[in-house]
Amino acid sequence: MTVATLIDVLQPAIANRTAIAGLVVLGWEDARAYVEAADETGLPLILQAGPGCRNYTPVAVLGKMFRVLAEQARVPVVCHIDHAYTHEECAIGIDNGFSSVMIDGSKLPLDENIEITARVVEMAHRAGVSVEGEIGVVGYVSGGGSTMTSPDEAGRFDRESGVDALAISVGNVHLSTEKTAGIDFDAVRRIEAVTRSPLVLHGGSGIPPAIRRQLARETRVKKFNIGTELRMVFGDALRQSLADQPDCFDRLQLLGRTITPLRVEARNIMKALAEG
Ligand SMILES: [Zn+2]
Repeated sequence: MTVATLIDVLQPAIANRTAIAGLVVLGWEDARAYVEAADETGLPLILQAGPGCRNYTPVAVLGKMFRVLAEQARVPVVCHIDHAYTHEECAIGIDNGFSSVMIDGSKLPLDENIEITARVVEMAHRAGVSVEGEIGVVGYVSGGGSTMTSPDEAGRFDRESGVDALAISVGNVHLSTEKTAGIDFDAVRRIEAVTRSPLVLHGGSGIPPAIRRQLARETRVKKFNIGTELRMVFGDALRQSLADQPDCFDRLQLLGRTITPLRVEARNIMKALAEG
């Protein structure tokens, strides 16, 4: 299958009343597990490399790894840069084979956010690459507060930036280990009414699965970023692997046992979003 863009996977999701999982990758074991899960379910997938991942492993390595996995998959796989903060970071991602980028100008004043995002859109679209932008601030459970997305600003941002997907803040928060986020459906409706792009919720791990499904079915939220709940599965699996093999020092044997649990959990997440 070909490497896909956000447009390729999110527009059909609008028609199908489903949503696509944007799964956060930190290394080989999880990336491989997620693409295997996509193949097993027959569902499209967005593989994402965020700032932490890019600090740990060079973007050139990640781009190649993502593309090899996407090209071997039987389903569309988007190779996506999550939370780039500069035009240059996006350009480096595109040069290294990523088919999609997120430019996060959410902390900038509205005019500056529109300006940087529009410049990234112009560059990315020339290369056949899709762009996600953000309006409103999605905070972190550890602090770093959220600013709810203003529908008026979202409407203007969507029209003037030319993005392919729009991340919004409507009660979702990053890095939540508990599924307790209260999503403001009225806010989603007000934003939907004045925008045209598919909407994205970061902090998907904190949103109860039933609410994710309801959003996928009833609204234009078409991408959920999910990292923490899969990282928790990885941590549990690795601790179990170490306990089960106290004399083992081989990383292939130790880390290899995380792949199946990650694949099973990714499959469950993707299927739940696609049940619509
Ligand atoms: Zn995020």
